Amino acid sequence: MRLARSLAAVAFLLVLVSALTAPLAARTDPAAADTPVLPPDVAAPAAAADEEVVPATAAAAGPVAVPVPSETAMRYYRSGNWLWILATLWGFAVPALLLFTGVSARLRDLARRLGRRWFLTVALYGVLFALVGFLLDLPLSWYSDYVRPHAYGLSDQAAAKWWGDAFKGLAIGALFNALFLWVPYLLLKKSPRRWWIYTGLLAVPFVILMMVVTPIWIDPLFNEFGPMKDRALEAEILSLADRAGIEGGRVYEVAKSVDTNTVNAYVTGFLDTKRIVLWDTLLAKLEPSQVLFVMGHEMGHYVLGHVPVMLAVITVLIFFGLWVVHRSAAALIARFRHRFGFEELGDVASLPLIGLLFGLVFFVLSPGFLALSRHHERQSDRFGLEITRDNVACATSFVRLQEENLGNPRPGWLYKLWRSSHPPLGERIDFCNAYRPWETGAPLAYGEKIRPPV
Ligand SMILES: [Zn+2]
Repeated sequence: MRLARSLAAVAFLLVLVSALTAPLAARTDPAAADTPVLPPDVAAPAAAADEEVVPATAAAAGPVAVPVPSETAMRYYRSGNWLWILATLWGFAVPALLLFTGVSARLRDLARRLGRRWFLTVALYGVLFALVGFLLDLPLSWYSDYVRPHAYGLSDQAAAKWWGDAFKGLAIGALFNALFLWVPYLLLKKSPRRWWIYTGLLAVPFVILMMVVTPIWIDPLFNEFGPMKDRALEAEILSLADRAGIEGGRVYEVAKSVDTNTVNAYVTGFLDTKRIVLWDTLLAKLEPSQVLFVMGHEMGHYVLGHVPVMLAVITVLIFFGLWVVHRSAAALIARFRHRFGFEELGDVASLPLIGLLFGLVFFVLSPGFLALSRHHERQSDRFGLEITRDNVACATSFVRLQEENLGNPRPGWLYKLWRSSHPPLGERIDFCNAYRPWETGAPLAYGEKIRPPV
């Protein structure tokens, strides 16, 4: 979902919320492991020969080799890195541009003329801001989300669907700004010294609320969600969930094939809306035993409490980000107020400044956040293996992921540090091959959380 910058400060919370959902492969970064179909040369003999042949049932045959990525996959990886650099710089350039050209102040003036009253001015500014951000981002979004995946055979999405989703994203962003932007600005007005503490305190229940409602109100606006069509496989999944001690767990199949040929699955929601979502592309391209391993992995996120841990981390991040804004904004405004066109942080024209500072904080801290995410993913891979004990299904499901999503199994260290929410596929396949404590009677890491099969 491309809600991101259109919402600035509120958006930051949403970005964190979306970071909380834990897909099997990286999801939001266009260049990561999240793209689909087989362009002709991926299917060509060179790379395809050894991996594709290994059906999960062929077990016992020894370790599954990490496929050599195709030339196309490597091109996709390299161009994706350049695109990421460009998108990151753009993400800082847009709010900086809005500030230093005084456009933000002019948007505020316009909002004030139309809205008159304080509350309406803030709401209208939020809407205008979402609209301007959307327009400025449009060329890059169109290229990275539509043109590029099509060029690599990773998507057959209709242009109308892309535009429909883009406008829905804009509408949601504008609505959120109109509904919630007044909260931090009212707090800034009432308590210029402690606003950041109060905003942080309110942000936590807000993030939880977003996590609860996103899967039921937001996600279905973009794709069709339903129960699994393969009832036999669903029954197997539910018995696996039962062994993992997950009660009333819900499994959804989402019609993602209209958007992408890549494969993925993720855990989302909170409290009563917690669920595991499988893309229909994954169900179409993976063997049942591989789907079961993937489900075991997703159940690991559930059982090992990764969502609450991420929520705690995000709470700290929000407070820290707000504190940085509080500490640094006044000096920046004092230095540049003639260019910015506002005198204090409590002026709604400061929104791009808040967004910029939050963006910088998040960028600097993201290696730590990503390292934690990779740690969770490794734990979940281990959990998936311990519950299925199917090393071949584990390894071959990641092989499929690499092929279908044009992944690079051994990315560079900088990529890993700053971009990888998941361990490199090569490491995951190696782990799938190697981890088998049940064969020697060694204790399992999560033995007490998993009931043995009956
Ligand atoms: Zn995962």
